[in-house]
Amino acid sequence: MHCPFCTANDTKVIDSRLVGGGHQVRRRRECNECHERFTTFEGAELVMPHVIKQDGSREPFNEDKLRNGLRRALEKRPVSTEQVEEVVHQIKSQLRATGEREVASKTVGEFIMEALKKLDKVAYVRFASVYRSFEDIKEFGEEIARLGE
Ligand SMILES: [Zn+2]
Repeated sequence: MHCPFCTANDTKVIDSRLVGGGHQVRRRRECNECHERFTTFEGAELVMPHVIKQDGSREPFNEDKLRNGLRRALEKRPVSTEQVEEVVHQIKSQLRATGEREVASKTVGEFIMEALKKLDKVAYVRFASVYRSFEDIKEFGEEIARLGE
């Protein structure tokens, strides 16, 4: 990063240590040009990305919406509430791990399908049929055919 004093490009790290219970790294830096010292903090960005909808509008990620979508797909299936919560947790982690501030709703849908595929095949087909609608019916048919193999 640039030196905040003289805006030179070249700075070096002179000390680096974990702080905040190991969730942050504190770095002492020195500018190679003006030799001023400054401190930076580095931490993981744990903010959920916003979701870009089909029509291009953005909305904050909505955990309840995800949970309700999963429950609808899993209605009357032998899957516990705990397992649903695990999937919610897993998908949230996957979304954070993208490191993006915005992700397409399509990406969220793909994560959900991946998770359901492992959890419950019937729920997966239910979700996929609603989610993919008639856009790629051929691909969907092939998917169902593969499940029967
Ligand atoms: Zn400087």
